[in-house]
Amino acid sequence: MEDSKDLRIAVVGGGISGLSAALYCQEHFPDGHGSVSVFEKRERLGGVLNTELRDGFEIEQSADNFITTVPYGLDLCRRLGLESDIVTTTPRNRQTFILWKDRLHKLPDGFMMMAPSKWWPMAVTRLLSPFGKLRAAMEYFIPAKKGDEDESMESFAVRRLGREVFDRLIEPLVSGVYAADMTRLSLLATLPRFREMEKKHGSLIRAMRKNCAEMKKKARQEKKKNGTASQNADTRQSGPRYNLFVTVKGGLGRITSEIEKRLDPQTVYCRTEVTQMARTESGKWSLTWRSLEDGRTESAEFDAVILAGESHNIAKLLGSAQIARPAELLAGIEHTGTVILTAAFRREDIGHPLDGMGAVVPAKEKNPILALSFSSEKYPHRAPEGTVLIRIFSGGSRDPEIVDMPEDEVRDLLLEKMANCLKIQGSPLMTSVSRWPNTMPQFHLGHLERIADLEKEMEAYPTLGVAGNSLTGVGIPHCIHSGEEAARKVLAALEQ
Ligand SMILES: Cc1cc2nc3c(=O)[nH]c(=O)nc-3n(C[C@H](O)[C@H](O)[C@H](O)COP(=O)(O)OP(=O)(O)OC[C@H]3O[C@@H](n4cnc5c(N)ncnc54)[C@H](O)[C@@H]3O)c2cc1C
Repeated sequence: MEDSKDLRIAVVGGGISGLSAALYCQEHFPDGHGSVSVFEKRERLGGVLNTELRDGFEIEQSADNFITTVPYGLDLCRRLGLESDIVTTTPRNRQTFILWKDRLHKLPDGFMMMAPSKWWPMAVTRLLSPFGKLRAAMEYFIPAKKGDEDESMESFAVRRLGREVFDRLIEPLVSGVYAADMTRLSLLATLPRFREMEKKHGSLIRAMRKNCAEMKKKARQEKKKNGTASQNADTRQSGPRYNLFVTVKGGLGRITSEIEKRLDPQTVYCRTEVTQMARTESGKWSLTWRSLEDGRTESAEFDAVILAGESHNIAKLLGSAQIARPAELLAGIEHTGTVILTAAFRREDIGHPLDGMGAVVPAKEKNPILALSFSSEKYPHRAPEGTVLIRIFSGGSRDPEIVDMPEDEVRDLLLEKMANCLKIQGSPLMTSVSRWPNTMPQFHLGHLERIADLEKEMEAYPTLGVAGNSLTGVGIPHCIHSGEEAARKVLAALEQ
């Protein structure tokens, strides 16, 4: 083994995936020695994660919160000393609205992403026709599909619950998270738990009802033991499982800035693009980078490299190092762009009671809004008393052109649509537009096989890691895990 004091690792990409990799390397260098360099094209670290603090408002420019069932987000926050600032969604009004025929309707209580857990709210909802309701109820009796092959989200949902429930409830809920084309989105790469439910219980409704009954039982036991039941036992919600999401007071940008504080500023290079990579004769990696400040080009050798940019950017670097098959696999992952518009209003200017966490919009509505989030209703610390913060998620495969529209046009268009939905009078107190072109990977059918192939191919390069949101999940906890796994891989190789 080489003298560990000399170990040099480069991380390309300073988003949450790359930063998690860099932090892990720094915390786990053999004997505590070694240096990690981070290269980032943008002028700041964090990638798409960025929090803007303005006039008492906390504005998330991309991710809004993260799920806790995948533990890596919470674990990282604890390691960074942010645990006491973690906040859960406010327990009141954990429900979602659906825009249908230009009006907001409550999603039937207990309808969680792809399946209902309660009969009555489905029976009385105005979102479905009598035929649509009947077809959904038949799900209980439709036999589970045999075999393990993947299928599109649309095919699965229509097969189980019918076209109407798909078009009016499931398509908008899933689009509001993945901004994807449902006819190509892989069920197994995005929401595999629903296939597991089908397999185990024969029906999603049966599985949801069983789960609901178990949660209620647990809540009763907890209440008996502690006097109160935990928020995880809340069965009166609808939409995403809001009780499982958290954010950090001060914004998610605190996670990346806390990591930055722990890195050596001498080896963090922002506004610097890595343009080439090559294997040296001694088995190290040579990187060439270009400063976006002054155009200067430099090169250096590293013992290991972790590529944590968007997969199309990783592919270019792998290609430059003649690592052809992995480059091809990564280049084949399509991306779309998304837009976030955040606007603050005086509460009295909003006609809608905002008695939920937000709203989603079916494709059939032909509205540029994918989802609305009542940001300060979800997390009240985000806006000063008497005001509200609302954000719009737009773009994706449904409306890819919006990312390239001039900022003023995007703002005017989305504000007008939001004003109609929420009966807003008067102008916003402030607005913020963030555009994220080509950053949202699409887990189309075949994604799992693609990633399995990639992992196999990459075994031939033990000191080269790949990480990022294009691999096993777009959510923040998955990104953190992918960065840490890549770091673990290269450190293990360097220790041998
Ligand atoms: C609008 C939006 C809303 C979202 N909402 C949520 C949410 O609520 N919850 C959730 O969990 N997740 C959410 N996500 C997903 C999550 O935020 C992202 O998947 C995650 O932050 C991506 O992190 P990353 O480090 O993999 O990639 P990025 O943040 O894209 O970082 C990659 C970085 O690599 C840099 N780079 C690339 N190539 C090079 C190169 N050659 N040289 C130097 N630098 C390079 C890029 O400039 C970029 O900064 C959202 C994403 C978006 C866009």
